[in-house]
Amino acid sequence: GLDRPLVDHTLDLLRRRCDAGGAVLLITHDLAAARRVADTVAVMYASRIVERRPTAELFAAPAHPYTAGLLDALPERAFRPVPGHPPMLTDLPPGCAFAPRCDRATDVCRTPPAPSAGAPARIACHHPLTLGAPA
Ligand code: SF4
Repeated sequence: GLDRPLVDHTLDLLRRRCDAGGAVLLITHDLAAARRVADTVAVMYASRIVERRPTAELFAAPAHPYTAGLLDALPERAFRPVPGHPPMLTDLPPGCAFAPRCDRATDVCRTPPAPSAGAPARIACHHPLTLGAPA
């Protein structure tokens, strides 16, 4: 609800805290803000982290289909909304909660995807998009 100059001022303050060695946890729907402040971004869907990666990598080459959909919805990208609606948290589908909206879903997606091992990238998806090189 803040106007853009105040958002920019607040983000600059947060980024300076990071640069001074502080830890900042920013929870936002504003992808531009996340990109500007964060070193690492964790994308959540249906209360679970589906992708966690260094910010530049995630924005350059999203690996989880939901992350890709979020980025495609940005006006400066495809400006195409993610089809469908999020599930009720009290009535999650079995397996991957994103499956009813995912064009990459297969039978295996009826089982919950475990986050991939390895730091710093973690992607909870049976069929992630190819990881690109860091930007
Ligand atoms: S696990 Fe399957 S349904 Fe879920 S995001 Fe990945 S490909 Fe799509």
